[in-house]
Amino acid sequence: MAQLQHKVIVGLEIHVQLCTKSKMFCGCAVEFGAEPNSRVCPVCLGMPGVLPVMNKQAYEYSVLTAMALDCRIPTFTKWDRKSYYYPDLPKNYQISQYDLPLGENGFIEIPLESGRTKRIGITRAHLEEDAGKNLHTAGNFSQVDLNRTGTPLLEIVTEPDMNSGAEVRALAVELQRMVRFLGVSEADMQKGHMRFEPNINLAILKDGVEYRTSIVEIKNLNSFRALERSVNHEEHRQLDEFLDTGKVMKMGSKTTRGWDDEREVTVLQREKEEAHDYRYFPEPDLMPVKLAPRWLDDIRSHMCELPLKRQMRYVEQYKLSDYDAGVLTAERSTADFFDEAVEAGGEPKRVCNILAQTGLRKANEKGCSIAQLGVQAIDVAKLAQEIETGRINASSAKTIFEEIVKLKANVFSRATVEDPLTVQRIAEQLNLIQKSDAGELEAIVDQIIAENPKAVEDVTSGGKKSKKAKGFLLGQVMQKTKGQANPKVVSEILAKKLG
Ligand code: ZN
Ligand code: MN
Repeated sequence: MAQLQHKVIVGLEIHVQLCTKSKMFCGCAVEFGAEPNSRVCPVCLGMPGVLPVMNKQAYEYSVLTAMALDCRIPTFTKWDRKSYYYPDLPKNYQISQYDLPLGENGFIEIPLESGRTKRIGITRAHLEEDAGKNLHTAGNFSQVDLNRTGTPLLEIVTEPDMNSGAEVRALAVELQRMVRFLGVSEADMQKGHMRFEPNINLAILKDGVEYRTSIVEIKNLNSFRALERSVNHEEHRQLDEFLDTGKVMKMGSKTTRGWDDEREVTVLQREKEEAHDYRYFPEPDLMPVKLAPRWLDDIRSHMCELPLKRQMRYVEQYKLSDYDAGVLTAERSTADFFDEAVEAGGEPKRVCNILAQTGLRKANEKGCSIAQLGVQAIDVAKLAQEIETGRINASSAKTIFEEIVKLKANVFSRATVEDPLTVQRIAEQLNLIQKSDAGELEAIVDQIIAENPKAVEDVTSGGKKSKKAKGFLLGQVMQKTKGQANPKVVSEILAKKLG
């Protein structure tokens, strides 16, 4: 039997659509779902004689992202024309950045399932314009919608540092969270805001000799699921192909494949990358970009604590589980909401429990973020405090949280919700305040003891039945008080009375 080991090697190209109001080189609105060809002008339609003007915001978003990716940021860049003919880009060239990208030599840390992180190199990040969309839905002809033409796209290229479909997915998810935290992209997969193109091949060790398979690029993936599955599929397909044919990498050859989402297989598109002659040359209609130190500082001032760092800080500082910290940092608004509630005096773990359990469930139900539920951070801080002092228990906190969400959904009672006494009032209205007054509870305990001599005997005699009998007596007190007794206080009284 031949000795065989293999390792999959993956690098990724990612296109991220930036959330600017207008396009990259004209004033047309960037808008998803508008009537076809209604967001176009002579510039993005590629009419002769028009002049592009750079969108400053798009440049700043891109540099900010490159900074977050720890890239070196050159202070001089320029624009280049990449010539190609395709009906969705009527200019017949794309304005891009060729030899002077706006960021290079960076890295991103990605979380692994083991709880550790892995550093993935970032080769470069550059800015370019998107093409339109060809539609093949009507009859036996094609249509083109140029609304997307000229939309700012940040292209990020990683080093081939990933070694599994799971790692590739982790990078994609981390990058999505990062650009959302930075506020530079909505990164909505459904709207095609993030598109992935993994480059995949294998290093195979067979009988002590290493072989490499040819690199396969999978085009245009727009979901995490498709990304992960296509990498996994390609890994097995390449291994099978190598075992069948013994074919190895030829210098300069690269195959392009597409992903068939239905059959979950990659499909051959082009056997051999044509020696593409994009005929890149400097764009004569645009000035180069010089980043003065003041401009750089201004961009840097928009940097925030990045999500993975923040997640790890929550684990470290507040002793939250990695899972909980992940829930809190899935969206920046949730993390900010959590911080605000902690700032307002909520004990971090309790605040986290309320948000990561009840909050998350409600948000999923409503299809919004936790911060959009209408509950105020101060309310959550109050809930945490009330649990802490024993005035309410955790299940009542959940009820109150849900009640506030309900109130918020009713526009007529919105005023009530902004009231700092919301939590207290709802707790009282719903009779959720726990009875912790020892004197009052003692009288009830005495009554229960008098009514249940058998259970009392079981408790005092010790042994196996004792624990069960104690639970029974506690249950009786809870029933008598309609669940309002503080079980901790009752247990203490019981222990004192029955030894
Ligand atoms: Zn335009
Ligand atoms: Mn590109």
